[in-house]
Amino acid sequence: MNILNNAEKRTYGAIVIGSGMAGGWAAKEFCDKGIKTLVLERGRKVTHNEDYPTTLLSPWEMEHRGQLTKQEIDENPIISKCYAFREDAKHFFVKDAEHPYIQDKPFDWIRGYQTGGKSLLWARQTQRWSQLDFDGPARDGFAVPWPITYKEIDPWYSYVEHFAGISGNKDGLDSLPDGDFLPPMELTCVEKHFQKEMKRLYSDRHVIIGRCAHLTEPRDIHIQQGRGTCLGRNLCQRGCPYGGYFSANSSTLPWAAKTGNMTLRTDSVVHSIIYDEQKQKAVGVRVVDAHTKEMVEYYAKVIFVTAAAINTNLILLNSKSSRFPNGLGNDSGLLGTHIAFHNYRASLSAEYEGYLDYKTAGGRPNSGYIPRFRNLYKQETNFLRGYAAGMSGGRGTHADQSSVGESLKNSLLNPKWSNWYAGSHMMGETIPKESNKVTLDATKKDAWGMPLLHMDVSYDNNDDLMVKDFIDQFTEMYEKAGFKNIKTRDSHAPAGLDIHEMGGVRMGSDPKTSLLNKWNQMHHVKNVFVTDGACMTSTSTQNPSLTYMAFTARAVDYAVKEMKKGNL
Ligand SMILES: Cc1cc2nc3c(=O)[nH]c(=O)nc-3n(C[C@H](O)[C@H](O)[C@H](O)COP(=O)(O)OP(=O)(O)OC[C@H]3O[C@@H](n4cnc5c(N)ncnc54)[C@H](O)[C@@H]3O)c2cc1C
Ligand code: SF4
Repeated sequence: MNILNNAEKRTYGAIVIGSGMAGGWAAKEFCDKGIKTLVLERGRKVTHNEDYPTTLLSPWEMEHRGQLTKQEIDENPIISKCYAFREDAKHFFVKDAEHPYIQDKPFDWIRGYQTGGKSLLWARQTQRWSQLDFDGPARDGFAVPWPITYKEIDPWYSYVEHFAGISGNKDGLDSLPDGDFLPPMELTCVEKHFQKEMKRLYSDRHVIIGRCAHLTEPRDIHIQQGRGTCLGRNLCQRGCPYGGYFSANSSTLPWAAKTGNMTLRTDSVVHSIIYDEQKQKAVGVRVVDAHTKEMVEYYAKVIFVTAAAINTNLILLNSKSSRFPNGLGNDSGLLGTHIAFHNYRASLSAEYEGYLDYKTAGGRPNSGYIPRFRNLYKQETNFLRGYAAGMSGGRGTHADQSSVGESLKNSLLNPKWSNWYAGSHMMGETIPKESNKVTLDATKKDAWGMPLLHMDVSYDNNDDLMVKDFIDQFTEMYEKAGFKNIKTRDSHAPAGLDIHEMGGVRMGSDPKTSLLNKWNQMHHVKNVFVTDGACMTSTSTQNPSLTYMAFTARAVDYAVKEMKKGNL
């Protein structure tokens, strides 16, 4: 280990582990508050615009017209299941062989190791939680009660929405509170038809336009970030040259850099957090250089762990000391347990025979959304909790390719419009369980000296019942709304492909049953905070990143106040 002499040069006010969705927010907030901040990122440097090599390519400029080769699919059986792992964005994904983990049960772990993490790749759907979601564990008797209320997080949702730029409609629903929105995108005519029919047929089922992190009408704060209007190219996973969607690369990280308070070190794998027994707090981190494998220590008053849920668990489990032999802050023995995710197994497709005088034009990087309607106010089904769903309806063309020569050419040049198609996919809440866990292998290590991670996470009977209910309910809803050729599917995919893994370091009021308090602060190590998905006590149905952003901004605000009081 190379402990460089000059420790002062490696000392900061705050250390942020990971530069993705949550880490970017931690960096911005600390830097805005005048704290010298070190951001440690294990992946390579990806600078907004400079490092988006495919962003302006047309399909014919790509060797495989945007597709993957058979060899790439064969070499990446896990990540090639992700819809965004294609020729235009494959450089932003961790390849299966690069960072192995041990699947005690099959788990599709999708990762992005680079500046910005998965914020470059995400689908940008951003919904708030409601009080009904925070009430879930206590009302239905699973997990531990959330230690915070919607009222406490509400202003922080507004705060991050304002800066990130969220497009949406004010729908006035209890289950999905409205936010500080930019103008909404539009539903297609078939989506509007479904919306109208749902309103007519059901009192509790609503079709709305998705709320998403796109600048439909930039405000001054977005112009200051150097970002512009989303042009609807729908090629976001390549990185957007206009900053039309929110990513850490386009927004929070450059903002933090402009303050002069941020040091971003890429290719820096955080190995563990250093706990000082005398001071009874964490004093820094051990970092392995991704290339030379040399180990260096960095020090700070406060440490934010935002390495993405599973990696955050890995770092904390690997942070052992005589005070914490089972991982940092792990007196309860629950670190790494109660991992949960979203149930994305079921989907439905259908056709609509009307609206033949309408067509879609251009790209809309968004879709319709159906907020949860099951078990909202009371238990009414044979499974716990519920599901939200995506809903999209569009129209494409097809060309007869059965002929050859001139006839084939003519057919390709004059494609025919198909019927309108529509579809929905479920986004269900799963129940966090102690048996769904990650642990460290006792002997096997990766190339950076980190123990290999065991994944022992799977669906259960509650999820199966929920899948069946989604299929029954959505078949009925589409049938009643006049759709034809309805096909349903249960993918039976293993957990993970929702890419919303959460838990392992859950929040709660009682240190015996949780690891973090209501400020995302470790009960037993007061200067360590966890604000990514690892902190989530339950999962709700909403896409989670907006909530991580709000938790992060709120936790930094608290941490800086505590630092100023001399409490950290
Ligand atoms: C295709 C796709 C679609 C998605 N769609 C949505 C959506 O519509 N809505 C939504 O809310 N969410 C969506 N998500 C999920 C979303 O991307 C994540 O919730 C979000 O990025 C998590 O933020 P994070 O900061 O925890 O992790 P990340 O953004 O992944 O950042 C974590 C960072 O930590 C770094 N890191 C890891 N380990 C270490 C270490 N030991 N040392 C140093 N650095 C480390 C990683 O390299 C990474 O850069 C999607 C994800 C994908 C891939
Ligand atoms: S859809 Fe908008 S955000 Fe996405 S790449 Fe196009 S302009 Fe950028």
